[in-house]
Amino acid sequence: AHLDRIERFEPSIHAFLHRDPEATLAQARAIDQARAAGEPLGRLAGVPIALKDVLCTRGVPTTCGSRMLANYRPPFDATVVRKLNEAGAVIVGKVNMDEFAMGSSTENSHFGPTHNPWDLERTPGGSSGGSAAAVAAGFAPLALGTDTGGSIRQPAAFCGIVGLKPSYGRVSRFGLVAFASSLDQIGPMSRSVADAALLLNVIAGADPRDATCVDRPVPDYLAGLNDPIGPDRPLKVGYVPEFLTDGLDDRIKTAVDQALQTYRELGAEIREVHLPHTRIGIAAYYIVAPCEASSNLARYDGTIFGHRAADWSPASPGEEELSPTVRMMMASRAEGFGAEVKRRIMLGTFALSAGYADQYYNKALKVRRLIRQDFDQAFEQVDVIVGPTTPTPAFRLGEKTDDPLAMYLSDVYTITANLAGIPGLSLPFGLTTERLPIGVQLLAKPFDEPTLLRAAALLE
Ligand code: GLN
Repeated sequence: AHLDRIERFEPSIHAFLHRDPEATLAQARAIDQARAAGEPLGRLAGVPIALKDVLCTRGVPTTCGSRMLANYRPPFDATVVRKLNEAGAVIVGKVNMDEFAMGSSTENSHFGPTHNPWDLERTPGGSSGGSAAAVAAGFAPLALGTDTGGSIRQPAAFCGIVGLKPSYGRVSRFGLVAFASSLDQIGPMSRSVADAALLLNVIAGADPRDATCVDRPVPDYLAGLNDPIGPDRPLKVGYVPEFLTDGLDDRIKTAVDQALQTYRELGAEIREVHLPHTRIGIAAYYIVAPCEASSNLARYDGTIFGHRAADWSPASPGEEELSPTVRMMMASRAEGFGAEVKRRIMLGTFALSAGYADQYYNKALKVRRLIRQDFDQAFEQVDVIVGPTTPTPAFRLGEKTDDPLAMYLSDVYTITANLAGIPGLSLPFGLTTERLPIGVQLLAKPFDEPTLLRAAALLE
């Protein structure tokens, strides 16, 4: 049924970068046979899932939305992919994304944008726009995305689905092509909170192959998910006046107010908490993330990794003095990377350079610490924080492509969770009059995904 839907609607949505319906059917039939033979089945037996094309799949293209990796077929599976296979999930394909996960609209993909299933003229968000569109269009009930500054939660909000960025260290990043290693996390995208909890059950947990993945027991995220608020299970919900900035769309503000009202009616205690450094989170993130990216992306130079240019003859005066190898690397990187990736590499290289690191990178790390302190103090008073996921509903394709700063500013509500390492979830909460989804974001303390998921389920 999902493959039929893909056949029908994929031409107008363009969620996929790679799919192999025969392989998908073979996987599904193998599960059917195991079921018929009475063999034990995994927790996701037969459930279709779409994978963001930044997750390594053995023998299957993994492009990161980039010309640089257009021909890359990893010789191994990411840990999350291995876990999905062991759980019996059926992979429907690899889905579109902003190049190397840099962007908020999927328009930075080398392979062309994805369209929002709710309005084909609009972006599905990004960078996990293919994942969000695939779930919203019914191509798969589940998808994996990655979130460095909002790339799971923002597209989830734009496409009317649930998106969860787990705590930093909750899910192994082995086999996730790195963008900014201190911020990246893999997480579930789904139609319901329970589905996100089930998928997190499968992918969470320590991994000897990822030293940043924390060795902490994985609770059953489905247990207690639907417990009502009562004397034995109270819930304290925080709202944040600093979220009410000029750029916040009234319809989203109203949705957040309604979410608070729902919590009040369900018996939650509502408290005001403060996150005074929210606004400068953007500046800190757009230093830290490009710095880490400039380092992570240094490996793609056409020698061992990445696209190799066919021609590296001197292109401009002075280049004949460079060695052929250097010219080959320059030509390969010039051809292989798109404009946004180059912008980030240049920003990061500059901010890390001698004489500037103190002024930019080290200062950004100090802001990062202040943001974490804001959250630590807030979570002494409340269990979850409720706020907007995005300042506006899905914007039009092309609307912000000429204005990188406007694109960056739309990350204001999601970025701080990555800087602080805390979990965040976006939940669909109503539609605008033109039938565009509105997302509400919930945040919780590190590793308190159980409370985060339960609080989300209360609003469903
Ligand atoms: N939009 C942000 C960026 O462009 C976040 C991206 C992400 O989370 N991968 O960096």
